[in-house]
Amino acid sequence: MLDSTKQHENAHLPHIQSWSTQAHDSNFVKVKEREIIKVPFTEEMKETHTILVPMMLPIHFKFLVNILRLHGYKAELLHNDGKAVVNEGLKNVHNDTCYPALLVIGQMIDALKSGQWDLSKVALLITQTGGGCRASNYIYLLRKALNKAGFGEIPVISLNFSGLETGQGFRVTRPMLQNLLSGVVYGDLLMHIANQCKPYEKHQGDTDAMIDKWVTRITTPGTNQGLTNYKALKKDTRAILEDFASIPMEVDKKVKVGIVGEIYIKFSPLGNNNLEDFLLAENCEIVIPGFLDFCLYCINDTLIETKLYGGKLTTKMIYHVVYEYFCKRQNDMIKAIKKHGVFRAPSSFKHTKLLVDGYVSQAMNMGEGWLLTAEMLELIEQGVNNIVCAQPFGCLPNHIVGRGMMKTIKEKNPQSNIVSIDYDPGATKVNQENRIKLMLSNAKKELEYAAMLDAQKPVMELQKA
Ligand code: SF4
Repeated sequence: MLDSTKQHENAHLPHIQSWSTQAHDSNFVKVKEREIIKVPFTEEMKETHTILVPMMLPIHFKFLVNILRLHGYKAELLHNDGKAVVNEGLKNVHNDTCYPALLVIGQMIDALKSGQWDLSKVALLITQTGGGCRASNYIYLLRKALNKAGFGEIPVISLNFSGLETGQGFRVTRPMLQNLLSGVVYGDLLMHIANQCKPYEKHQGDTDAMIDKWVTRITTPGTNQGLTNYKALKKDTRAILEDFASIPMEVDKKVKVGIVGEIYIKFSPLGNNNLEDFLLAENCEIVIPGFLDFCLYCINDTLIETKLYGGKLTTKMIYHVVYEYFCKRQNDMIKAIKKHGVFRAPSSFKHTKLLVDGYVSQAMNMGEGWLLTAEMLELIEQGVNNIVCAQPFGCLPNHIVGRGMMKTIKEKNPQSNIVSIDYDPGATKVNQENRIKLMLSNAKKELEYAAMLDAQKPVMELQKA
């Protein structure tokens, strides 16, 4: 409702239909200035424009960009970060807006201002989940911010699978969709096993080099059969496991730390102030539940909604088939990791889903919803008791299922050691790291105690004998 001042200011506004005849009305000009232009990405632009993709998941988004290139688009992944990105976000997005939106938009505007790109031949790509949370509206915030910063003519592409933003020259074709699905599976596999190699590698950089080698191989014509052929993907999976297992590694015991949270803050180094690097420097092994789980969570949401509120049978059937297809792919990956026997496999989504029974309803699907709680439980079940729950400041849904569930999780799992960290433009890195260090000090004591018990075992067994 308008407050009394606004009502007074707007009392003389002409009826909307009469605006066209009152072009000189100052209020009309103001409204025109605020109008957000929707510049489409046309089919011709495929030849001329470079699509800039903001960074979110370091490994998966390399696949995304390379797959776009395989389908004839010019695409680049943005790597600009630091205070300049945050400042651009603050300048062009309302500070009440979710921190991920502020960073994504800030990164794009900072890139456009860098002078690196020909502004008449550049487009921006943003992902939309299509869920009920504000993330589905980031595209409008982006267009508004571009207008404000003087880049209103830059085309914006929405990458979504919910039928949003139709009428674009950019289309996710069936072969591209198949490639993207395989890219998510490859991305999860590489992320899971690289996290188990990196803290132990004898020669720094071996793991990163191995990731680059495989991303290039999987997305280079001639060696990219795995993107379309499932048999080839399975063959690659075995070869990847062998290759990573051949990296020379130290035998060492490290504190395992799980990372959960809002999807952008959990994965993006820009969003979480390089949390992974910090934990590695603190002598930890990082465990992150995969991106495939988030995709399955989004599909599962539609199934739950149709179950609770009804819906078209055809929608239900299509989503069910897609859900089972994804689950099968994940299960095959898990089976391959287990069969190889060197690396720890993640839990399947179907299993993780069962863990939230008695904690939170699966109808809680705003933000990361019940999945966030489930991922903490999944980690604890795997023996990863130390968890950082990374959340954007002001993100209500994830505070409910993240920080809000911590007390119950700790009561039912007293061995858990969880810390919730808020990320926003005003939070200092030192403060965030100090809180994590406090959590780690407990974890390190536990590790020392376990090592001491291990060392005493042979003596105790001798005494028993
Ligand atoms: S989950 Fe949180 S950060 Fe993401 S759109 Fe919703 S409120 Fe914003």
